[in-house]
Amino acid sequence: MRNIDKAKVCQAVALLLEGLGEDANAERFRKTAERVANFYGEFLTDNKVCAFNQSALMAEHFTGIVSIKAINFFSICEHHLLPFFGAASIAYLPKANKIIGISKLAEIIKSLAADFQIQERLTQEISDLINKLIDPQGVIVKIEAYHLCLSMQGVKETQAKLQTCIKSGIFLQDQILAAQTLELLKD
Ligand SMILES: [Zn+2]
Repeated sequence: MRNIDKAKVCQAVALLLEGLGEDANAERFRKTAERVANFYGEFLTDNKVCAFNQSALMAEHFTGIVSIKAINFFSICEHHLLPFFGAASIAYLPKANKIIGISKLAEIIKSLAADFQIQERLTQEISDLINKLIDPQGVIVKIEAYHLCLSMQGVKETQAKLQTCIKSGIFLQDQILAAQTLELLKD
């Protein structure tokens, strides 16, 4: 939930409709501007990073890989203001018994996605935040997403998914471990 200037968004939506050759005052558009403003206010996160404080973290003796697969998310491409959506997967190897609650991993993904984004930066931000929160031995973040700007214009490709993947820490040094871990994250 983000505090937005609702009046300004409503004016902008009316102007957009007019610019597109529509009559913004027509009955069928009577509530459209307000609905659009409400949508953005509800969808966009307020302050995406500060919500993740130390309470998400736990101390637990665990020396294996922690992974979570296919967390669904929705985001808005900042280049076209169109949705992109898909699934993000995370794997990390803890250090010094520091682990992070599984629901928090899902929350991190959904919260960082609930913004104007590009997929590459979203992937990087998830990786950076996990590194910052629990300083693990390494993290892999993988995202696969459909982009409506690819599906609805230009080449109109509806089946292609953009894949992004970032490795850090030990996963950059140990290629065998990285390959085994990526195998865990496969569909
Ligand atoms: Zn786009």
